[in-house]
Amino acid sequence: MKITSAEFVMSNSNVAKCPNEPLPEYAFIGRSNVGKSSLINMLMERKSLAKTSGRPGKTQLINHFKVNENWFLVDLPGYGYARVSKKDKKVFQKYITEYFEKREQLVSAFVLVDIRHDPQPVDLEFMEWLGTNGIPFAIIFTKADKLKPAVVEKQAQTYLQKLLDGVWEEAPPHFITSSSNRAGRIELLGYIDAINKE
Ligand code: GDP
Repeated sequence: MKITSAEFVMSNSNVAKCPNEPLPEYAFIGRSNVGKSSLINMLMERKSLAKTSGRPGKTQLINHFKVNENWFLVDLPGYGYARVSKKDKKVFQKYITEYFEKREQLVSAFVLVDIRHDPQPVDLEFMEWLGTNGIPFAIIFTKADKLKPAVVEKQAQTYLQKLLDGVWEEAPPHFITSSSNRAGRIELLGYIDAINKE
């Protein structure tokens, strides 16, 4: 997929106020600092469409970007940031939960995980919650450039195996990406393109 346009549409914390257009939608979510903003900018070939976070946990809103006039990329707040207060966490949980439960346009979530890390409880719990609620998702491994090429795929397979050893009967689709060297860009955009054309 060639990106011909990518524009910020709106930010809000109320799913009822999200864009009222029947376009397919893909939501990007992960722990703070996982590399979500960098990935979005890399995918869209924009330097600062999504704000890369000097201060993790700062972007606490549902951000809609319209891509190629025919789908929405949704940048959701990063979770699991220790310095966010309990009260903020509750508010966050409420509208993110609502977003996933109510947003009919949502086609798939992309859960971002740092390829260097073993599965973290907060990520596993979130994926389990998506599964329980019947929300399709794929895993995006980020920062692949930080590992030697020979161990990248092995690390991803180890991660997926841990899901299979847990509650999952089938591994979700996965993508290995790097915002530094643009790895995974074609595969990920191709995946979205293929679903949009179904
Ligand atoms: P966010 O909080 O998930 O939006 O994460 P950011 O995109 O702001 O990235 C967090 C930090 O990781 C920043 O210092 C980025 O420069 C760095 N980073 C993000 N993606 C990559 C990547 O693919 N490779 C490397 N080496 N660093 C990355």
